[in-house]
Amino acid sequence: MTFDYDLFVIGGGSGGVRAARVAAGLGAKVALAEDSRMGGTCVIRGCVPKKLMVFASEYAPMAEDAAAYGWDISLGAFHWPNFQRKLSAELDRLEGVYNGLLDKSGVTVFAQRATLSDPHSVRLADGTIKSAKHILIATGGRPVRPDVKGAEYGIVSDDIFNLPQLPKSILIVGGGYIACEFACILNGLGVEVTQYYRGAQILRGFDDEARGLICDQMRANGISIHMGTDVIGIEKTDTGLRVEATNGETQSFDQVFFATGRRPNTDGLGLDALGVELGRGGEIVVDHFSQTAVPSIYAIGDVTNRVNLTPVAIREAMAFVATVFEGKKTPVDHDLIPSAVFTQPEFGTVGLSEEEARAAGPIEVYATSFKPMQSSFAGRSDRVMMKLVVCAETRRVLGCHIVAPQAGEMIQLAGIAVKMGSTKEDFDRVCAVHPTMSEELVTLKTPARVA
Ligand code: NDP
Repeated sequence: MTFDYDLFVIGGGSGGVRAARVAAGLGAKVALAEDSRMGGTCVIRGCVPKKLMVFASEYAPMAEDAAAYGWDISLGAFHWPNFQRKLSAELDRLEGVYNGLLDKSGVTVFAQRATLSDPHSVRLADGTIKSAKHILIATGGRPVRPDVKGAEYGIVSDDIFNLPQLPKSILIVGGGYIACEFACILNGLGVEVTQYYRGAQILRGFDDEARGLICDQMRANGISIHMGTDVIGIEKTDTGLRVEATNGETQSFDQVFFATGRRPNTDGLGLDALGVELGRGGEIVVDHFSQTAVPSIYAIGDVTNRVNLTPVAIREAMAFVATVFEGKKTPVDHDLIPSAVFTQPEFGTVGLSEEEARAAGPIEVYATSFKPMQSSFAGRSDRVMMKLVVCAETRRVLGCHIVAPQAGEMIQLAGIAVKMGSTKEDFDRVCAVHPTMSEELVTLKTPARVA
């Protein structure tokens, strides 16, 4: 049987674009359909614009600290439209890069929505049908609003980059990555930020000690965080949005931002009819090789809701190409993935939290918390934390958790050691780089806790 293409990719985000161009580079005939902007969540409305906003938000405290270091400096105002214009131009540039990469690899791009019509063909929005030996679904996910009265008045993360002006006050709902990152960003940009989280502590699932320190610092930086609190309903008034909360309070905000999780983009793709299995959250169920219940159909990235991070989607794409186009069956390795939460202070983490490790067996915990030199000199009381969770039997470092400025940069490197299976003694054999914050990771002498 002959097909129009060897591979048809649905979705032009980090995973889909990588799979398409690498497969094309191996000589496969590849097409890709994307109905929005090329680059997907990460490039257009996620990691990249978010990180640029993190940078923008960090200049106010930097300017204050500069004065403490002897500079004659005063902080002016932040001009959102000026930043937004530059941000928009940068995203256009990156989208162009993505399109250029696809073009150079010989991938045929259809700028329209595609749905599945049978195990070997897709239907484009203009009605044409394209057949392919393999179909890869990489349609990502989207933010969801909770089912509360007036939820439509709130915004979600997709909207934040396009606001015509920054609000004076905002309520952020949620306690996960997006909620905490944007609470810090907007606070840094001068917005009055209130955060409601329904649970007992933000950043559920991460190391408890790290969560506690981040929350304390966020509060010290001026964010009003309310635990055990959720939205009952929102009403639009002449002056803003009146929010009724489960803590019995009613408060008005200029804006409400729902950072209450994301949902895989599987609606209306025609998956059910083909027998592609979906999980309870609407995610595509795949095996270790990203293959669905229909052998010709694969799925990668957030649409599979495994580990929803850009570099993981890219690895899933590479493993898919190796398996299908290079004849090397390559399972995706989801173990010991380092990651960072770009809060202020930043959080870098890899491996097991103290709580997870303790549940698995005897451990030793090595940890230190201190005022780092740079901000301490400037008169700040900020604290950082370095922590190693060690298996008491094998001495392997099971988890490393860093709360500190640039913790994302640090955990990338510590992640190599942890992934290699390094022991605590391997860390100890490494000479300190002085004076740095991360030198504490190789000078931790006695366990803070044995459990
Ligand atoms: P998360 O799952 O991290 O957080 C969702 C938050 O919303 C949780 O605190 C959750 O509470 C709360 N929530 C869920 N439903 C409701 C509801 N109905 N009412 C009130 N609160 C609710 O999702 P995010 O959207 O923040 O991020 C999605 C994913 O994107 C992340 O898991 C991560 O994989 C990725 N991401 C990674 C980043 C990075 O690497 N730096 C940055 C941003 C996103 P509860 O804890 O009680 O369930």
